[in-house]
Amino acid sequence: MSSTTKVAVPNVVLQSSFSMPVIGLGTAAESNDGEAIKQAVIEAIKVGYRHFDTASLYESEQAVGEAIAEALKLGLIGSRDELFITSKLWLPDNHPHLVLPALQKSLETLRLDYLDLYLVHWPMSAKPGIWKVPFEEEDLVPFDLKGVWTSMEECQNMGLTKSIGVSNFSTKKLEDLLSFATIPPSVNQVEMNASWQQKNLTEYCKAKAIIITAYSPLGAQGTRWGSNDVMDSELLNNIAQTHAKTVAQVSLRWLYEQGVTVVVKSYNKERIKQNLDIFDFSLTNDDYQKIRQIQQERKVKNGPAGFDVIDHLWDGEN
Ligand code: NAP
Repeated sequence: MSSTTKVAVPNVVLQSSFSMPVIGLGTAAESNDGEAIKQAVIEAIKVGYRHFDTASLYESEQAVGEAIAEALKLGLIGSRDELFITSKLWLPDNHPHLVLPALQKSLETLRLDYLDLYLVHWPMSAKPGIWKVPFEEEDLVPFDLKGVWTSMEECQNMGLTKSIGVSNFSTKKLEDLLSFATIPPSVNQVEMNASWQQKNLTEYCKAKAIIITAYSPLGAQGTRWGSNDVMDSELLNNIAQTHAKTVAQVSLRWLYEQGVTVVVKSYNKERIKQNLDIFDFSLTNDDYQKIRQIQQERKVKNGPAGFDVIDHLWDGEN
């Protein structure tokens, strides 16, 4: 891909009937360097990204908003409508009466009139006002899924977000949600990568027309929550060599071929470009057989809690 090539990223259509580009740029990082985020978003827009993933937790909303304003000023995009912006509701706001104010605050920080997608970040609630990670056991309170989801539906009905969805939801929690939802979730954003393949969840979501967005698609190497399992995989490296691609590109291509969407984080100009350059090759049956052999291990084990909540969060699913 030459330095000036802009990739046309394919879209998927959500249950809400809106389109979502299959690859987005993630903005969760160890340090929140606003200028680095802003430059990364602008670089990403230049090479063809139209989908950006943020959250009130990440403290990246302001920089993403500044980058969008700058991209408009520079004429990199004609209007905000060309972008797909996702943000998320954090645990202390995960209460029915706090959903709307939290979304309004995210919009204000992003300097936007609407989001494309608003997600319930985790199926857990913390006491209002407690804003920290990790949470201690005494910070957590029961999660009112029905009440929160009704407020999410109101936000969509008010036009403040085009679509609504969830994140880190197991099939059991989705089943519970679907039993009363008037508006079904368009998306479930979860950890998914070659070393955490989410076979059951993928099949379930496909049957319910819920689009999975894979986070930590490269295993989140170099972060506090990730590992090098994916990027150091000898097996993926061998596959990459046969296609003259990188391990990252093979990992992202595998996810794309699973029919899921992906958010991948890089603030490095070359890697931002590299991660979009996955639409000119296909994996073979032989590649698939090998990838199925990769040892499976969830990387994001405790979620936002400082103690083991895996069974509570995932209902014992693996
Ligand atoms: P990731 O995208 O799998 O990995 C990011 C790491 O890989 C960074 O250290 C990045 O470094 C490096 N990297 C990126 N492209 C590379 C390439 N081509 N070659 C080598 N290294 C590369 O992990 P993630 O950030 O955890 O996941 C992506 C996004 O998902 C997040 O940013 C966030 O938006 C979202 N997320 C959501 C949740 C949730 O609970 N919903 C949880 C975690 C993440 P450089 O920047 O130096 O390139």
